[in-house]
Amino acid sequence: MARESLQRKRERVVAILDTLAEAYPDARVGLDFTTPFELLIATILSAQCTDERVNQVTPLLFAKYRTPRDYLGVPIEELEADIHSTGFYRNKARNIQACCRELIDRFDGEVPTTLDDLVSLPGVGRKTANCVLSNCWNIPGITVDTHVTRISRLLALTTATDAVKIEHDLMKLMERDRWNSWNHLIISHGRRTCIARRPKCDLCPIIDHCPSAHRQTGKSHIGARR
Ligand code: SF4
Repeated sequence: MARESLQRKRERVVAILDTLAEAYPDARVGLDFTTPFELLIATILSAQCTDERVNQVTPLLFAKYRTPRDYLGVPIEELEADIHSTGFYRNKARNIQACCRELIDRFDGEVPTTLDDLVSLPGVGRKTANCVLSNCWNIPGITVDTHVTRISRLLALTTATDAVKIEHDLMKLMERDRWNSWNHLIISHGRRTCIARRPKCDLCPIIDHCPSAHRQTGKSHIGARR
C-alpha cells in the first residue's frame, strides 16, 4: 500500500470511529466502580488481569475498604489475601497501600484530577491515569492497553510498540473529543471481533478500513467497497 497521508489517515479514523460507534453502542469501561477512588483501585488491580476477574473481586473489596485510610488500616497480608485472585497480589497490595498513603499525605485523601499528579502516585502509570481522568471526569485521554496497541497497529495507525509513542500517534489522528470513545470502542472491538488469536475479519464492520484484513482473508479489502 502506498504511504498514506496524514489527512487520509485522519479520515479513515473518523470512518472507523463512526462505524464502531454504530456496531458497539453500549461500549463503556469494563471495570465496575462508583467513585474515582474505586476506579483508581480497580485499574491498579487490572494490570495483567481481566476486567471480569477484577469485577468479581471489587464488590467485597469496596464494601470493606471505602477510603484510603481503610487500606492502610490492615496488615498488608490481609490486603494481599483480599486481592489474591487478581494475580501479582504482593506487588499490587504494596502499590495500593503506597498509593493510599500518598493520597492522604499529598491530596487530602482525594484522587487528583491531573495527569501529572496521578502518575506521581505509586502503581499509577499513564494508562491508569488516563482511564481515571476520562471515565470519571470526561477529561480526554487515550488509554493504551493491549487491545488499543494491537488494533491500532493492525489498522496501520501507528508502527510504535512503546505505549507513550502510540498514545501520541493516535492523538494526532483524531479530535480530542473522540479520544475517550477510541478507548471504549477499540476495547469492545478487541473483545468481540478483532480477537487477538482469531480476528473475525469476515464479520468485521471496519474491514474496508483495515490494511491487515488480507492477512486473514487472503485479499486486500481497504477501499474495496468505496
Ligand atoms: S479486518 Fe480483521 S484484523 Fe482488521 S480490524 Fe477487523 S478483525 Fe481486526
